[in-house]
Amino acid sequence: MPSAPALQFDVVIAGGGFAAVYCARALARGLGDEARNRVALVADQNFMVFQPMLAEVVGASLSPRHVVNPIRRLCSGVTVLRGSISSIDLPAGAMQVNAGDFTGNVSVEFKHLVLTLGGIVDLSRVPGMTEHAFLLKNVGDALKLRSTIIDRIEEANLTSDAAAMERLLRFVIVGGGYSGVETAGQIRDLGDEILGLYPRLPKELFRVILIHSGPHLLPEINESLGRYCEENLKGRGVEIILGSRVSGMTASKVYIGERSFETHTVVSTVGNAPHPMLVSLCSDNSIELDRGRVVTDDTLKVKDHPGLWAAGDCAAVPMPVKNAPVSEPVKAASPFTPQPFCPPTAQFAVRQGTLLGKNLASVLGGKGEVESFKFTGLGELASIGHRAAVAEIMGMQFSGFFAWWLWRSIYLMKLPGLERKLRVLMDWTLDLFFPRDISLFQSRPTQRLKGMRLEVGDILFHAGEPAFSFYIVKSGRIDLRNPDGTPAKSVYPGDHFGERALLHDRKWQFTAIAAESTELVAISAGVFDSIIDADKSIRDFLLTTAASH
Ligand SMILES: Cc1cc2nc3c(=O)[nH]c(=O)nc-3n(C[C@H](O)[C@H](O)[C@H](O)COP(=O)(O)OP(=O)(O)OC[C@H]3O[C@@H](n4cnc5c(N)ncnc54)[C@H](O)[C@@H]3O)c2cc1C
Repeated sequence: MPSAPALQFDVVIAGGGFAAVYCARALARGLGDEARNRVALVADQNFMVFQPMLAEVVGASLSPRHVVNPIRRLCSGVTVLRGSISSIDLPAGAMQVNAGDFTGNVSVEFKHLVLTLGGIVDLSRVPGMTEHAFLLKNVGDALKLRSTIIDRIEEANLTSDAAAMERLLRFVIVGGGYSGVETAGQIRDLGDEILGLYPRLPKELFRVILIHSGPHLLPEINESLGRYCEENLKGRGVEIILGSRVSGMTASKVYIGERSFETHTVVSTVGNAPHPMLVSLCSDNSIELDRGRVVTDDTLKVKDHPGLWAAGDCAAVPMPVKNAPVSEPVKAASPFTPQPFCPPTAQFAVRQGTLLGKNLASVLGGKGEVESFKFTGLGELASIGHRAAVAEIMGMQFSGFFAWWLWRSIYLMKLPGLERKLRVLMDWTLDLFFPRDISLFQSRPTQRLKGMRLEVGDILFHAGEPAFSFYIVKSGRIDLRNPDGTPAKSVYPGDHFGERALLHDRKWQFTAIAAESTELVAISAGVFDSIIDADKSIRDFLLTTAASH
């Protein structure tokens, strides 16, 4: 089959977070009507997540609807392509984008590439963490954590075993950065507000413990606000352990050096790691990385690679010095003095994305004038619980309701469109007068029976369709036929099929028809992947059987 022609753009923005969206908006402003044909934004979700507010979803003080924004609305001036970038060939100026199960990879070509892919979470260095810790990176994580907290409280309410009750009501948060302090504050407030509904539960058993490896909280910002935040959280009953690292965990215990706590709920906000695609792109093309971030100059261009730009968490952008020549980066004298590169925070990602878009529009428009990144930060705000935040703006520190109100007002200003602003404002106003929604919302889709029965002539799948399962025949017989209808193989009781498609291109090569009344068990592609990742001998065995088909 001839391959589909590539989509071609002057600029492709890889990613759909703050840096990407603000870059696309600046390009749309700079290029006007031309932007839609010249600029594409490629992101694996069609909405942007406002990560700084995820902790409020955990604490049930914000609806998940209010922390996401449709990228098509935010970036209506450019082409938006929803798909996962699977590879980038920089010398060829092309990337492969996977749009979904029913279409193959689409080739997207570019003259300029903007890297705004953020980072990933890698917890593999702490034994047990990958398996047991809860994360907070996207809306799904926030909803899962919220329902788990409520579930733990419900379970504690039903047990008469005092030790089990303690374990269920103890919540440990690892990492004292933005997301750690926000999550600790939110869980504390959620417990305080709803425990009154559970008269069987002694309030003092509900404990929230925040563990941070550094000497003060909020290492992304400054020490004084970190100390301020620590006092505030302690005052509200959060226990804080500084200068300690988690060394391991099981389903019921977390180890911190010599100490340990019995708990079933550990939230990890650490383990940020470079995006693997960026790491391989940089090593294949000799691009400089600083601790996994792509090094740019102060105009957001990647050095020695014309047409390559980067911004946001995945970029190491020189931090401008206040009242100094902008190109001179700050020298890092100790771990507590400013780093030479901008911090990985939303306010920097937004400013970098906007400047990058402006500079690119100037290059594409033929002017070629590019500006340097001059932003050094407006101040800092971190929400630390229900209707409470800590802030430092223009050297002044404050906390409580005013800081929190400021925090929400800034968010509201950033929402696209009057209608959305009004809807969110109305919901927030109503929330001020009513208690949190603590219904135990779990996305539990109805479980389908994994076993199935086919009658003679029933078709299980057609050649060319996407493969979602691996099958084991319990009784009867399945015939596999080539696309031209000729027989390929028959599968009998105790035998299996599907591994070849799942291990390779996830497409069926054969059509499967029941030759007799047949009983099958289907194992989903996700479970299949977990099994072969976990056990090399099973993987090797299936690779051998796949090759023999
Ligand atoms: C819980 C939490 C709380 C935070 N609180 C604060 C705060 O209070 N203040 C603050 O300033 N900062 C905060 N931050 C940090 C802030 O959210 C980040 O600095 C910011 O999101 C970085 O933006 P970005 O665009 O660089 O990356 P991201 O927002 O991470 O965006 C990366 C994008 O790339 C997409 N992507 C990745 N891989 C692919 C692929 N293969 N194909 C297609 N698309 C892909 C992702 O889906 C995503 O859309 C917080 C972060 C978290 C997680």
